[in-house]
Amino acid sequence: MSEIERTATSALEQQRVWEYATAPESRDIVKLRDRYGLFLNGRFVEPRSGSYFETINPATEEALAEVGEANEEDVDLAARSARDAWQERWRDLPGKERAKYLYRIARALQERSREFSVLESLNNGKPIKESRDVDVPLAAAHFFYYAGWADKLEYAFPGRVPHSIGVAAQITPWNFPLLMCAWKLAPALATGNTAILKPASTTPLTALLLAEVIEQAELPPGVVNVIPGPGGRTGGWLAAHPDIAKIAFTGSTEIGKILRRNVAGTGKRLTLELGGKAANIVFEDAALDQAVEGIVNGIFFNQGEVCCAGSRLFVQESVFEPLLDKLKARLDTLRVGDPLDKNTDVGAINSRDQLEKIEELVQSGIDEGAEMYQPDCELPERGFWFRPTLFTNVSQSHRIAREEIFGPVLSILTFRTPDEAVEKANNTPYGLSAGIWTEKGSRILWMAARMKAGVVWANTFNRFDPSSPFGGYKESGFGREGGRHGLEPYLDLDGGDGA
Ligand code: NAP
Repeated sequence: MSEIERTATSALEQQRVWEYATAPESRDIVKLRDRYGLFLNGRFVEPRSGSYFETINPATEEALAEVGEANEEDVDLAARSARDAWQERWRDLPGKERAKYLYRIARALQERSREFSVLESLNNGKPIKESRDVDVPLAAAHFFYYAGWADKLEYAFPGRVPHSIGVAAQITPWNFPLLMCAWKLAPALATGNTAILKPASTTPLTALLLAEVIEQAELPPGVVNVIPGPGGRTGGWLAAHPDIAKIAFTGSTEIGKILRRNVAGTGKRLTLELGGKAANIVFEDAALDQAVEGIVNGIFFNQGEVCCAGSRLFVQESVFEPLLDKLKARLDTLRVGDPLDKNTDVGAINSRDQLEKIEELVQSGIDEGAEMYQPDCELPERGFWFRPTLFTNVSQSHRIAREEIFGPVLSILTFRTPDEAVEKANNTPYGLSAGIWTEKGSRILWMAARMKAGVVWANTFNRFDPSSPFGGYKESGFGREGGRHGLEPYLDLDGGDGA
């Protein structure tokens, strides 16, 4: 090696610590209004309640806008408008005509994708590369996918005659605000139902921007209504309204149980997409570097605020140490900070309440004797932040191994045999998703058949596609969203219950 080459190599070695220049996405594309009303009967109106609540940017705590809060009278207006729209304008429209509206919504989402991505990151705190590359394209894909079904419903259920059921109340959480609206609206509209959407109170802005798209797509008035407001009041009144035929809820198991109790005996349909505590299982023959990427994606994607997050990692004992070393090294490279920076891997936690919940559960892990590792990254001074965290020395009885943390916190446990992996993975009240990492196809099939989880990923994690059904077992809920299965909860088939 020449002197020049030696000098160059040594200079490169000294520069191993890479500093990224910031690459902020401009927020100018988003034109925020000071105040948003309710989207009722095809237009934005002042809430009858006269009340508004503030919605903020969790990365800075800056107020973004005021949003109208629907009271009981507003809920009643929304229900009547959706019922009239169903009876007079939507249910008898030929499927191919309904499809045209869904295609228009999908195309508008694509055309306005940068605006939606920036707004989603501003209001939720998620990194722009996720809202840009996952949330918004998937939301558009759901409308495209279900538009394709709208005129083919009789082929989806051969030998049966599908009928729409009426007005669907759709209650969504804050972790994927726009995407959850798409998961709910697209199948409801494709099957000839009308909808009332109640978005989560910390993240109403992209649902309201979607209402603008619905106006732009010229949907008949009342087919979609958007009424923000506090869950305990607006959500409760909506779910209890006699004109509601179906409730589609995504959120916590606790609220899911309340809804199930309230709906019992009313004849209303109900689907519940609830919490999770997924097992991500790594066998000794897995490609470890690939598994590390899957583990990181499984638990740090969207700050771990993901119902199907791989929050329990089970590692076969023989590869525990090399895997842990690789995982810690990878954690050290994650960039935590400004959600609008295109280099950011982990953004802000959605709210102070959620941050406090994460902190409390992490403290319980430390108190119960687990060993914590966090990279030494700097956190912004304002806003709600939590470092990517992993715990070793975790036992199955620890709260961090049993309870949904809904944050960037991974609990690592070990196993020796496949049977032990199955037993430990299924030892949870939840059953939403699972991951398996192994080179052996036969082991993937053996494990997948034994996992009590609605979705099982093999050598990947957190992959979503509109054509693939998603949903849970046990306390993770029931009913499926996505795919042909996602049509069923919105249809009466031959007058049967179809659920
Ligand atoms: P949450 O507190 O249950 O809230 C979900 C939605 O329900 C919000 O719109 C909320 O309104 C509303 N709500 C609250 N109380 C209600 C009531 N008594 N009646 C009717 N509606 C009510 O859940 P979250 O904290 O927003 O979301 C996190 C949870 O969602 C996690 O447990 C996560 O696992 C789960 N999740 C599941 C899936 C899935 O597909 N399985 C997907 C995403 C998230 P407010 O915002 O006004 O409180």
